[in-house]
Amino acid sequence: MFDYMIVGAGFAGCVLAERLATVANKKVLIVEQRDHIGGNAYDYYNHNGILVHKYGPHIFHTNSKKVFDYLSQFTLWRPYEHRVLASVDGQLVPLPINLTTINTLYGLRLNCDEVESFFNLKAEKVDKIRTSEDVVVSKVGRELYEKFFKGYTKKQWDLDPSELDASVASRVPVRINKDDRYFTDSYQAMPLHGYTKMFRNMLSHPNIKVMLNTDYKEVVDFIPFHRMIYTGPIDNYFDYCYGKLPYRSIEFKFDTLDTEHYQPTGTVNYPNEHAYTRITEFKHLTGQRHSKTTIVYEYPKADGDPYYPIPRPENAELYKKYKLLADSMTNTFFTGRLGTYKYYNMDQVVAQSLTLFEKLTQQKIKLELNGHAKAS
Ligand code: FAD
Ligand code: UDP
Repeated sequence: MFDYMIVGAGFAGCVLAERLATVANKKVLIVEQRDHIGGNAYDYYNHNGILVHKYGPHIFHTNSKKVFDYLSQFTLWRPYEHRVLASVDGQLVPLPINLTTINTLYGLRLNCDEVESFFNLKAEKVDKIRTSEDVVVSKVGRELYEKFFKGYTKKQWDLDPSELDASVASRVPVRINKDDRYFTDSYQAMPLHGYTKMFRNMLSHPNIKVMLNTDYKEVVDFIPFHRMIYTGPIDNYFDYCYGKLPYRSIEFKFDTLDTEHYQPTGTVNYPNEHAYTRITEFKHLTGQRHSKTTIVYEYPKADGDPYYPIPRPENAELYKKYKLLADSMTNTFFTGRLGTYKYYNMDQVVAQSLTLFEKLTQQKIKLELNGHAKAS
């Protein structure tokens, strides 16, 4: 008899399995439908021996010491600060939009104060910031919004930024200095030997068994367990009883080139050209040395694996209905990007899952106390 069946071997499932097995001495079975662990952060060496991310580029960054220290038990790190260029008006310019972006784009020589005035002059007054369009036009005006955000967002989500929550475009700041890092978090690093190796270390415990290539629905009635942790899509768990929650998917096209480097930074975004949104060259991220290089193109699409919950008010409403069902269950717990329908980064999923672990183990104490009270 397992104490826990965990559905999904991504960040959420691996964190819970590791904590429950190691700290709470629970017997855990992870059931994963894919043929590998790691969820969307899975990486592997391709035919040419280059380390690539199967489900698109994954760059680790966090402001949480707790999350960083937790993962550091299972991996060494390679310091890495991600940089992104955007192809706009025939030039490659830094994204987030910063001082260099504006000077390069418009052939100017502004300083920090002057670029701030430049943005203020261009910015549109928006009374209440509700949408992703509001976020950008209120900071830098419509022209830059159209150059950098409108087309990219349409490709990525098949929605106009005015139809998406403010939180989406808010992920990308605007800067008046020359800082060209994509993230400014205090911890920015890649697992030195890759994500999959880190997950393997997390799951390497005698209390943890992993069953791959299995949809949990095939086995849930045959394998005895006390509690379930579910990290797949929440609407799927409830057989879409309120209808499907929308997700965005992506087709990843890989190409290996007979050259040491393809592009100057880890990622180049293409807001206005091509059907793809961005190209990432893995060797920038991993620091691997190799005479060839592998790049990945991202083509967003509606159908396929559910990668991105779509942050819009009507989807949040639908999710709330599923969450009510989830909250009414006593022995099944939901976590992760799909399990809670949240556009979460990896570190947020780790933090969320550590919190669930704490809740579960406190609950256990409470239950045992109750049992004791009853018995006495
Ligand atoms: P997942 O990794 O999706 O794991 C869920 C697992 O459950 C999957 O393996 C799935 O196969 C399994 N599953 C689902 N249903 C069933 C079932 N019925 N039976 C059995 N198994 C099932 N985050 C960052 O911090 N930095 C980045 O740079 C970054 N880049 C990203 C790029 C892309 C293209 C995408 C899509 C995401 C990116 N993320 C990034 C987000 C990151 O992938 C997630 O935060 C994280 O992987 C979520 O982990 P999870 O365990 O919640 O979900
Ligand atoms: N975005 C954009 N242009 C860009 C980069 C981002 O319009 O060049 C918008 C787009 O809507 C995107 C969102 O900002 O989905 C968040 O970008 P991020 O790079 O965080 O996306 P992710 O890495 O999660 O796909």
